[in-house]
Amino acid sequence: MPDIPPHLVFDGHNDVLLRLHKKAKTGVETDFLDGDGEGHLDLPRMLKGGFGGGLFAVYVPSGQSLADMDKLMQGKRYDVPLPAVIEAAEAQPVALAMAAILFRIERASQGAFRLCRSAADIRNCLAEGTIAAVFHMEGAEAIDRNLDGLEVLYRAGLRSLGPVWSRPTIFGHGVPFRYPSTPDTGPGLTDAGKALITACNDLGIAIDVSHLNEKGFWDVARLSRAPLIATHSNAHAICPHARNLTDRQLHAIADSGGMVGLNFATCFLRPDGQRGADTPLDTMARHLDHLIAEAGLDHVGFGTDFDGAQVPQDIGDVTGLPVLQAFLGRHGYDDASLRKLCHENWIAVLERTWGA
Ligand code: ZN
Repeated sequence: MPDIPPHLVFDGHNDVLLRLHKKAKTGVETDFLDGDGEGHLDLPRMLKGGFGGGLFAVYVPSGQSLADMDKLMQGKRYDVPLPAVIEAAEAQPVALAMAAILFRIERASQGAFRLCRSAADIRNCLAEGTIAAVFHMEGAEAIDRNLDGLEVLYRAGLRSLGPVWSRPTIFGHGVPFRYPSTPDTGPGLTDAGKALITACNDLGIAIDVSHLNEKGFWDVARLSRAPLIATHSNAHAICPHARNLTDRQLHAIADSGGMVGLNFATCFLRPDGQRGADTPLDTMARHLDHLIAEAGLDHVGFGTDFDGAQVPQDIGDVTGLPVLQAFLGRHGYDDASLRKLCHENWIAVLERTWGA
């Protein structure tokens, strides 16, 4: 463990709500708060690892299992077919169930975990040692064409939305799990998708471009009045996976006052596009160096993908965050830079997006 206390980490993406939802039982909020020790995240381990908070994703799973996906991603080249569209009527109950887990965690936490709707909320939480949770949706399947769902979910605290996961929606086309590949894999936003971007701008909901294909990305760049945010994506120049960002995209993110969160998923880190727990921390540092070289130090942070992906074994779970910070310190990042990467940049970009 490092001598200097590490900076609290505010994280662009986690899937703990999916992990808890999959348990398919009541009382999962207690499992989370007491610490079930499963996956990457629970409250005791977050506190131990210096996890200050982040975007908590509501994600409606497709029928196909993630284990099947892992199998499909083996080999020097792979191209996982996009799962089928999920209709809003089918997606809404699942999304509500996962959002309810988030709200029950907050209610049962006795002040240890709070849903945040503003940058000031997040700053207060970090200062008090309360976990700062932002309600995020990864894929807009639960939102109908009239955007009624968007209005209601905003009132429930939704402050960040990815129009697509790697799956088509009525709003756009996700980027497939394809390696090697450019992110230019299909058509851009639909008319409904363009209306969704405007509605998110009007309400003050951040738009996450992480799972959009390149045409969709440029549609958002052209239409949105908000900073471009890729909550959990890496450098295509180092790992040429369709899910990663080209230098041109990184420049656009910087020009918009936006943000990219370094994804800890090994298949998006390793130059060979494979999964592998033995992925060295140095590979993460190489991505970080590149993201910063192209987008600038003020536009990069972390987007762990904890509980949604395999992460390097040297991190293991959220309690490994201090190990990463110590490594990055030895790699050459000074204290002020680490503070920006760990949480200051995320809070600043959300403030630019939501308004003060
Ligand atoms: Zn994702």
